[in-house]
Amino acid sequence: MTQTIPAVDYLVLGDQPHLVANACVQCGALYFDRRNACAKCFATDFESRPLATEGVLRAYTIVQRGAKNGPFTSAVVELTGGGVVKANLLGVTEADGIRPEMKVRLATFEAGTDDDGTVAVAFGFEPIGA
Ligand SMILES: [Zn+2]
Repeated sequence: MTQTIPAVDYLVLGDQPHLVANACVQCGALYFDRRNACAKCFATDFESRPLATEGVLRAYTIVQRGAKNGPFTSAVVELTGGGVVKANLLGVTEADGIRPEMKVRLATFEAGTDDDGTVAVAFGFEPIGA
């Protein structure tokens, strides 16, 4: 059985892969990195909050140059219910295939395997219904 690990700490694998953010208990601001204090209200209490796996595309850049595995599309996705995350838009490298505000959902893929055979799993977003 192959062991898999998430490529980033805030990706939770399993039957329903999803992202987890640190939510400020006082104002609800969401962070993916670990913080000592909220950037908005300076409170210091955070709780772990699972985020939605669907959202809408807020911005994107198609990267052509110097990409070894390129081209690829870098996107900013606003998740339903809160949370803004930057990730690649999977399977779309033409502006024709992208609409502003298009709906997307989280998708995972194998990013690489280390010497012990452990597979690192990364995430991106794919268009819904495409
Ligand atoms: Zn706060």
